[in-house]
Amino acid sequence: MLIKDILTVGKTAVSFEFFPPKTPKGWEVLFETIADLTVLKPAYVSVTYGAGGSTRDRTHDLVTRIHEETDLEVVAHLTCVGHRFDEIKRILDRYAESGIGNILALRGDPPADKAVDGTFDGDFPYASDLVAFIRDIHPEMGIGVAGFPEGHSAVTNRLTELEHLKEKVDAGADYIVTQLFFDNRDYFDYVERCRLAGIGIPVIAGIMPITGGKNMLRMAELSPRTRFPAGLIRTVERAGTEERIEMAGTHWAAEQVRDLLDHGVPGIHLYTLNHSAATLRIGESLGLAGFDDLL
Ligand code: FAD
Repeated sequence: MLIKDILTVGKTAVSFEFFPPKTPKGWEVLFETIADLTVLKPAYVSVTYGAGGSTRDRTHDLVTRIHEETDLEVVAHLTCVGHRFDEIKRILDRYAESGIGNILALRGDPPADKAVDGTFDGDFPYASDLVAFIRDIHPEMGIGVAGFPEGHSAVTNRLTELEHLKEKVDAGADYIVTQLFFDNRDYFDYVERCRLAGIGIPVIAGIMPITGGKNMLRMAELSPRTRFPAGLIRTVERAGTEERIEMAGTHWAAEQVRDLLDHGVPGIHLYTLNHSAATLRIGESLGLAGFDDLL
């Protein structure tokens, strides 16, 4: 089923994100995580892709294993930076042959140690070029794109950034999934700004629970524009130990999810980091047996 069709059902679609593990042990743990989280009945799950193709086969293997071994709908992330047209075509054809019809089309970032000297640029300057390419050669596929409520790290003009988002929508994107945020007001304002810019497609809210002090620092590094509200910093400081920070961070995320559900958002995407505990606790603290039964 295409994600755009799931999003028209009228209930909030809750989804989970995984990344392809590097080791056999990691695969084992991930499939235990997936089994644990299946109980929550997500609307779909997605699998990340290493920019430049660093996880090309592992992403493909994980996406197809989930497709074949579970009842979960699965979305394959695909980044275009560093790739040539023929490489992307091969990846898409392989997915189509395996019955995978949903792609999250991203630009990705070149690795920090690789100078952008033309060899890593590839044939796709921006994600909008990838969206247009997919629409051209696989018009049947569902396409999601990334959105940044607090601005993308490379954005120099906050007034024109949504024009670039609109280019992805005009090229054929069906829905947007946001970068993580900790203050729902940033998401609601972003959706409003999208509408003012003439972007009408669903905007799925990306939520990542803080699961420890170190984890919070890592988030800040990976997502440099993310604002950590004073209330959240106070909460983390009060909690003190890693274990208590995890409890407090998960509670914060659960409150965000509750508020988003109350506002009837079209979708909530939980960044699981391949662990089930925080996501299960969010479901539990909301009193939900599963996410399939939301109003
Ligand atoms: P784009 O939409 O191409 O935007 C990149 C930058 O270029 C933005 O600053 C944009 O404003 C600017 N821009 C766009 N078009 C133009 C134009 N025509 N002229 C000038 N400037 C322009 N990364 C991974 O490597 N693997 C993943 O699996 C992955 N999954 C993600 C999932 C989500 C939900 C999100 C939010 C991000 C994910 N990322 C992933 C990170 C993402 O690849 C990076 O943040 C990347 O820098 C931006 O990707 P994009 O698709 O938004 O790029």
